[in-house]
Amino acid sequence: IRILAYESSCDETSTSIVKNGTEIESLIIATQIKSHQRFGGVVPEVASRHHIEVITQITKEALAQANCTWKDIDAIAVTYGPGLVGALLIGVSAAKAASMATNIPLIGVDHIMGHIMAAQLKDTIEYPALALQVSGGHTELVLLKSPIDFEIIGDTRDDAAGEAYDKIGRVLGVNYPAGKTIDTWAHQGQDTFKFPRAMLEDYDYDFSFSGLKSAFINTCHHADQINQKLDKYDLAASFQAAVVDVLAYKTMRAIKEFKPKTFILGGGVAANLGLRERLNREIAVINQDHHLKVIMPDLKLCGDNAAMIGAAAYNLYVAGQFSDLNLNADPSLELPYSDELYK
Ligand code: ATP
Ligand code: MG
Ligand code: FE
Repeated sequence: IRILAYESSCDETSTSIVKNGTEIESLIIATQIKSHQRFGGVVPEVASRHHIEVITQITKEALAQANCTWKDIDAIAVTYGPGLVGALLIGVSAAKAASMATNIPLIGVDHIMGHIMAAQLKDTIEYPALALQVSGGHTELVLLKSPIDFEIIGDTRDDAAGEAYDKIGRVLGVNYPAGKTIDTWAHQGQDTFKFPRAMLEDYDYDFSFSGLKSAFINTCHHADQINQKLDKYDLAASFQAAVVDVLAYKTMRAIKEFKPKTFILGGGVAANLGLRERLNREIAVINQDHHLKVIMPDLKLCGDNAAMIGAAAYNLYVAGQFSDLNLNADPSLELPYSDELYK
């Protein structure tokens, strides 16, 4: 089964052909980051315009790179949410037009399900699985009962982890998106500031990063006022230590409670080397007498890309979950919450 997938939810326009949900035959990612950097974040109107400029061209490129024609394609997949509505609409319209013109079935995919399914491009997921999904707009712990049955057990109450990285990066004068640079600096400094770790109540799996962000910004502003120069490497290391502590603590507690067979790290922040190292180290300790499989996507597939959408779409294809031409963009699409936890 060969799926041609589209992703245009934010500032990357991407197309990909994925075979059997596991094998990437082609992947094109057209990034717009340079156009948004001078504004310090993604400008929705600019994003939509860029998507529409490249989407037809990169559809042709995805087919050519895989040595395919439309006749070789079994389904057309597209991210329909969550994301920027104008940006999503470009991908959804392109996918619907292609489906209508070729009579190839259409599959709408949740962007977050896609991030988590980037793992399927790396290794076989054994169920039940637990995913820590950390990205620009989401910080969630998700239980996967099957390849299509996802439930949120914990969520951020305010800022997402990636968003916090980008906001504190701005204070340090780092270009958007700041995560990668802060991660690099963090490896060159020490946790000297001891910023707060919001563990919240011990009985849930929710996260909060706005207190940490404010503490960081206040520390920088205060130093500025008294003309004190703070070490940017120590600031980055201290921020990252606080983020990683909270993410690792809640994740390890969920692993102990839900006993998944596979642990998946997903989303743009899954590229964070500090987070990867810490989770690998803590899971190695429990794996002295358990066997928990760990899947962390290749760095290139942590950020937004259409291959992960093709992987998730394959699972929907197998389950017979197709979309019709009424498919619409849903900017605030959310995976379902577990009933067990919010009663
Ligand atoms: P969402 O997927 O929640 O809808 P998004 O698609 O905008 O949001 P992604 O593209 O998945 O988010 O991830 C981008 C985020 O990942 C940015 O906030 C960026 O700073 C962050 N990021 C990328 N690399 C790293 C890293 N090495 N360390 C920390 N954060 C990182
Ligand atoms: Mg992005
Ligand atoms: Fe994303």
